[in-house]
Amino acid sequence: MCAVVGIFDSKEAAKVAYYALFAMQHRGQEATGISTSNGSSIKTVKRRGLVTDVFDEEAFKLLQGAMAVGHNRYSTAGSASVLDAQPVTASYQLGEISIVHNGNLVNKNEVRSRLIEEGAIFQSSMDTENIIHLIARSQQERLQDRIVEALEAIKGAYSLLILSRHKMFAIRDRYGVRPLSLGKLPDGGYIVASETCAFDLVGAEFVRDIRPGEMVIFEEGKKAPRSVQLFEPDPRICAFEYIYFARPDSIIEGKNVYQVRQRMGRALAKESASKADLVIPVPDSGVAAALGYAKESGIPFEMAIVRNHYVGRTFIEPTQKMRDLKVKLKLSPMRSVLEGKSVVVIDDSIVRGTTSKQIVRLLKSVGVKEVHLKIAAPPIKHPCRYGIDTPSYEELISANHTEEEVCEYVGADSLSFLSIEALIESIGDKQRYSLVSFDGNYFIQ
Ligand code: AMP
Repeated sequence: MCAVVGIFDSKEAAKVAYYALFAMQHRGQEATGISTSNGSSIKTVKRRGLVTDVFDEEAFKLLQGAMAVGHNRYSTAGSASVLDAQPVTASYQLGEISIVHNGNLVNKNEVRSRLIEEGAIFQSSMDTENIIHLIARSQQERLQDRIVEALEAIKGAYSLLILSRHKMFAIRDRYGVRPLSLGKLPDGGYIVASETCAFDLVGAEFVRDIRPGEMVIFEEGKKAPRSVQLFEPDPRICAFEYIYFARPDSIIEGKNVYQVRQRMGRALAKESASKADLVIPVPDSGVAAALGYAKESGIPFEMAIVRNHYVGRTFIEPTQKMRDLKVKLKLSPMRSVLEGKSVVVIDDSIVRGTTSKQIVRLLKSVGVKEVHLKIAAPPIKHPCRYGIDTPSYEELISANHTEEEVCEYVGADSLSFLSIEALIESIGDKQRYSLVSFDGNYFIQ
């Protein structure tokens, strides 16, 4: 979860960052922020709320300079404080820095305890603050070396952008769990962003993905960025980016997310065919996979569930009571299309089972005869510790129940999931992926 963006050597860096964050709003809606450097100081605006609510003309008057970093924060239960908004900034021996981070550190608590013992004072619950403390306390002379020392002390998933008064650093962990791409702006500057959909909005040209374990350094006065391979790459991009997180028009590691999702739908049709009158997606998350399923099976596709776009994602409200209500506010099935029909319903994933149960109930309430629920992902059996907000084992329905039990719980006539093998094949590479939610292989310990 979360989106990061960095802008280098562009006239209106803050505005470009703003549009990029707007394009990546789906990656986090709780809080947003931008820091800019004008070469002599760093300024920051950050607040809870959506991109369009937080930044106004006054904010842009403050956010001057040709360099910027920005962040959209995804909500996790219980951390609603503005102190948990990013960028995280600090003044230290060498000046000011500002950091944005997408990912999750697995040794956060050890590092934090050690830093506190050594006298550090923390302002937030964010693991990003660990990184800034480690940089500030390093004895190295150059910022670049301080960053490297800090990174050597942390373990986990991170796509990071660090802004100083004269430089910007873009870094991806050696596994490349979270995406990060480099683009060229129309005015000759550079953009680094979590997803390429941000490039499309600001007219940037895709250059390449930042490599796992790589640090790209942008320096004032030097046009071309420098690359340093800090850690040996062991690529394992998160499969969930393709399943659910990323916007369909983004290209991650050379693969268009929409096309990957269609292949998942096709694979689902091959693995688990059902006789039905219609294929219908759960909008928006199941649309591409449902199209793939319909093409492969020959069963007609209908957008028979209408989504109200003015309600946030179901996950935003952490309490169970609100989640149930939100599903109903969000999705509405059309009786005239559905009554008396047998339908294949496609969604991207089952986490707690709340959404699926509601959908089946809604469909039956408008007279659907049979609901064959098909999920374009394998069962989620393990919590992700590398940056996706999956709940604990107790709450993950597939961690505690067989597929038959889940089917019974959600009230469907049949339930199928995509196999892990078909998922990998649909993404379409021989390379390895982060599949922890499905196989429990916690490769960063
Ligand atoms: P649930 O109702 O708990 O089973 O949630 C399942 C739905 O939440 C799926 O249909 C997805 O569209 C969506 N979803 C899956 N993973 C996440 C996530 N990490 N954050 C927010 N929404 C998610």
